[in-house]
Amino acid sequence: MSDLKLMRSPNCAALCLLFAVPFACAQYRGPDPAATQARAAADPSFYLPDEPAPNLGLLKVRLRDYADCAAGSACYARDLDAQTTRAVELLEAAVAHGKPGERLALVLDIDETSLSNLAEMERGDFSFIAQECNAQASPARTPAIPGTLRLFNRAQALGVAVFFITGRNDAQRAATVANLTSAGYRNWQALYMQPDHPAASNDPVQTVARYKAAQRRKIVAAGYRIVLNVGDQFSDLDGDPHAEFSVKLPNPFYYLP
Ligand SMILES: [Mg+2]
Repeated sequence: MSDLKLMRSPNCAALCLLFAVPFACAQYRGPDPAATQARAAADPSFYLPDEPAPNLGLLKVRLRDYADCAAGSACYARDLDAQTTRAVELLEAAVAHGKPGERLALVLDIDETSLSNLAEMERGDFSFIAQECNAQASPARTPAIPGTLRLFNRAQALGVAVFFITGRNDAQRAATVANLTSAGYRNWQALYMQPDHPAASNDPVQTVARYKAAQRRKIVAAGYRIVLNVGDQFSDLDGDPHAEFSVKLPNPFYYLP
């Protein structure tokens, strides 16, 4: 019985479907574990399973609340903006302490850093498949993340070269350039994309982190000092050479090693 009172009412579910209203329905967190335990303890015919992992359906509800900044929950957009504000401050400090003639660089990831796939992820119920999502990349589907665009423009105003390093493949170059441009990004220094058919490598584990570090080595070899790197995955930021400062944006929606 204790579970029943916590379930969505039909009216609430209907409101969610009809009006996509997050606030009332978003408070649902599933059965209260303590109430469930108490119910089982009071009924000797009731056996609880040992759940081996969190419930996927309930996790998706929490993700949607976070993504939609539903009342009473944390807020993805607010967290993004707080981190990009820190990034702007770090960039400005680095430039202020730079030496004359130095070539400073800002490195940006693309997906969930410069462009947002959130609408697509929500449409797909968070079943994110990067290649499918990127293949469908379009300006309407992937708008700029406002704080990162602010950082990009600030870097340009300060004379800092901006490099994009993305896990997208080169086959998506034209769509990605069009998407970045229409989202407001202009005049970047270079866009590094993964080759469509990587050459055979002695590296048995070609992770995103290793690929991205290799691109940063090219930037350093070209004479730049990478003062700031911003990404939504640790694999955007890990590996040598590191940027002098790295800013991790929130992304609870998927993980890339
Ligand atoms: Mg990303």
